[in-house]
Amino acid sequence: MNLLAPAHDKLLFTPGPLTTSARVKQAMLHDAGSWHFEFNDKVRWIRDELLRVAGVSREQGWEAIPLQGSGTFGVEAVFATCVPPQGKVAVLANGAYGERAVQMLVHAKIDHTVLRTPEHTPNDPAALDAALEQDAAITHVCAVHCETTSGILNPIAALGAVTRRRGRAFIVDAMSTFGGLPIDLEHVGVDYLISSANKCLEGVPGFTFVLCRRARLLACEGWARSLSLDLLGQWKGFEKNGQFRYTPPTHALLAFVQALIELEQEGGVPAREGRYRRNHATLLAGMTALGFRPYLHPDVQSPLITSFHYPADPRFTFEVFYRALSDRGFIIYPGKISQADLFRIGTIGRVFPADLEALVAAIQRTVQEQGWRV
Ligand SMILES: *Cc1c(COP(=O)(O)O)cnc(C)c1O
Repeated sequence: MNLLAPAHDKLLFTPGPLTTSARVKQAMLHDAGSWHFEFNDKVRWIRDELLRVAGVSREQGWEAIPLQGSGTFGVEAVFATCVPPQGKVAVLANGAYGERAVQMLVHAKIDHTVLRTPEHTPNDPAALDAALEQDAAITHVCAVHCETTSGILNPIAALGAVTRRRGRAFIVDAMSTFGGLPIDLEHVGVDYLISSANKCLEGVPGFTFVLCRRARLLACEGWARSLSLDLLGQWKGFEKNGQFRYTPPTHALLAFVQALIELEQEGGVPAREGRYRRNHATLLAGMTALGFRPYLHPDVQSPLITSFHYPADPRFTFEVFYRALSDRGFIIYPGKISQADLFRIGTIGRVFPADLEALVAAIQRTVQEQGWRV
């Protein structure tokens, strides 16, 4: 085992943590006092910038609340804080992250119902409409924008329209889409959006953040089931003295300032979406030319992460495939679907079409060397 970093990092074709720019990494070569005004100014700037990236503002009643921990902590914080004691959540699930949301509700002993579709099938807005009509106890609806398990895109605009028409609050796990795909919060009718630093915003892991309507948040007084995951408490901490309530991931926040500057320099969300779409198109063209088959129908496939079937050759093993690509400097991702043998390739992070071409070339050489029939 080599405990020290190699001279060159391998490229990560994963859904986060992902490859970051050299300058994002360099931004971490500083120690910052979490109570110091210069650091707090940066936290304030990050909060405002997140709203700007989302196309909303404080004046319009929106707040951005960073929270220590990975993305899961952000989703759990919304449930723990914003669902009233007698509340009930309808979860739309077609993969591991929807199921994880269900697990959070089980742990928090929050009443819930689950509307499942198969892993290759988007959430069903009509089924949601029927559930909301039938069950007056449901107070919140939770959906996953891109279910990273497969890479499928769920119809959050249609789900949001149903949720708003039925007068419920809408929680969106946009972990793997925010910053990489446009999301019109007002039009979709989002009340709480959760994402994290180390996905399409191309920062390093360390914190999650929630974008929410201030009026919704303020109405949650007294409901928090957790101290450290109390979103309203976290917001009050920022409002009081500009600080995280407990030790923040200072280096990750410094890196995030640079990551947000780079998003702006790239041309904002539309330009980043364009690069991710070119990455995905390059990957798909190369892989299908080699004979690999994508798992999802193109109509529901996100440009962020793509699942491919294993080659039909019985001699294929993912472990050998993964190792060979790693030796060539490329890290891919195992599958996560229960119903099919798949591997996944992410096209987000500081990677470009030329990197995807290099990956496809490495896959081709590996397949040839192993003599696998694809
Ligand atoms: C990454 C991700 C999460 C959060 O995962 P963490 O490992 O806790 O950061 C949640 N939902 C989706 C859709 C994701 O892609």
